[in-house]
Amino acid sequence: MNLNDTELIKSIMIEAGFEIVDEFNKADVILLNTCSVREHATERVHNIIGNIYSKIKNRKYKTVFGILGCMAKHYGDEMFLYTNIVNLVVGVDEYRKLPDLVKECFEGENKIAIDLNTKEDYNDIIPFRKSTISAWLTIMRGCNNFCSYCVVPYVRGSERSRSVDSILKEVSYLVDNDIKEITLLGQNVNNYSYNDFDFPKLLGTVADTAPDIRIRFITSHPKNMTSELIDTIAKYDNICNYIHLPVQSGSDRILEKMNRKYTTEHYLSLVNEIKDKLPSNAISTDIIAGYPSETLEDHQATLDLIKEVRFTSAFMFRYSPRKGTKAFNEINDVPEAEKIRRLNEIINLQIQISEEINTAKIKNIYPVLIEGTSKKSYNQLKGKSELFDTVVFCNRKNKYKIGDKVPVKIVDATNKTLKGYIIENKCEF
Ligand code: SAH
Ligand code: SF4
Repeated sequence: MNLNDTELIKSIMIEAGFEIVDEFNKADVILLNTCSVREHATERVHNIIGNIYSKIKNRKYKTVFGILGCMAKHYGDEMFLYTNIVNLVVGVDEYRKLPDLVKECFEGENKIAIDLNTKEDYNDIIPFRKSTISAWLTIMRGCNNFCSYCVVPYVRGSERSRSVDSILKEVSYLVDNDIKEITLLGQNVNNYSYNDFDFPKLLGTVADTAPDIRIRFITSHPKNMTSELIDTIAKYDNICNYIHLPVQSGSDRILEKMNRKYTTEHYLSLVNEIKDKLPSNAISTDIIAGYPSETLEDHQATLDLIKEVRFTSAFMFRYSPRKGTKAFNEINDVPEAEKIRRLNEIINLQIQISEEINTAKIKNIYPVLIEGTSKKSYNQLKGKSELFDTVVFCNRKNKYKIGDKVPVKIVDATNKTLKGYIIENKCEF
């Protein structure tokens, strides 16, 4: 979501006559888009600010340095106090004002704009996308779920769905621009609602509008996932059978405290339905370890659920108290070292499961969309399977290019990556 917002910001700035430069030293406006979902993310931003400070403190000319996004709203004008180089603070619903605010900063004023605005959906702005292969497309902004640990509803505001018309217009634009993959974005896409369109209907319509494009979506909240959605995924070949379905915890007691509004029984019934209706499927998840009052029993329930579902992958975090959330008032009673121990146990289990799932893919052939060259060797290409596996393979005859979809036979696997060769182009690793 933040990456897509950055593309939006670039588009707004370019439209106003600014130019994006590729070197830090050439920039006299620096805009840092930020996330405040976990303390770790904000610590990284503080480090980056420190880094930028050391690079620009001796400049003889004026530089405008803006902090944008979730941290802007979360910390407000504290951002100015943090260091004297920040002179602009802009929240997620105020990006249209950026060009004017930047100009005012050049005139010497510090500027802050962090109001939330449920009417703002940036419908008319086509994000400035770097990738020519994959595109993110925001279909909803904000969130109304108020999971007790989460700062998103406070920093991104109330949930709103973009009009079907504006979404389909952007999809057609992406089709015309030969994009190969679209990921629909929202904090809870299963709650999409615009006139008589719910998410399954929207997803089917997008798939019809872009029949040759792979369609993905994130994120699905288990409380709002329906059979219609799973049926829609099953019906369309171009909708990927990969579902990110954050469970957060395997303990019903903790799920209730988290205000997630589903039970593990409901979650597992969704997983079973997905596995029944989509014979080839991948389910990934998010997990939080060490939520306030989490006992060893609760933690064991999470491990048991992971074993039962067998996620292909997971984003795993230790609980991080966020000011302003309901959970912030609870006693953060799981000691940090114990949170880390539980998190490591979860990570190790997940690594083992991912490795087993990936190893079982050896000898299979998957269509892979080429995204670029491998980091390790320019002779090798990398791409994504429909199930969101990262696949690395060789490009011996230099016959294929970024954006092609090729059949790759898998010969080796780790918990993170599959390795293989394009079937007509066998080669050794
Ligand atoms: N809207 C998405 C999640 C957005 S935040 C959803 O509901 O699934 C991404 C993930 O960050 C969450 O799923 C959660 O696992 C994690 N997260 C959010 N707040 C957190 C916190 N305070 N501490 C630790 N992890 C957190
Ligand atoms: Fe946060 Fe819950 Fe909204 Fe996701 S659904 S953004 S976890 S409040």
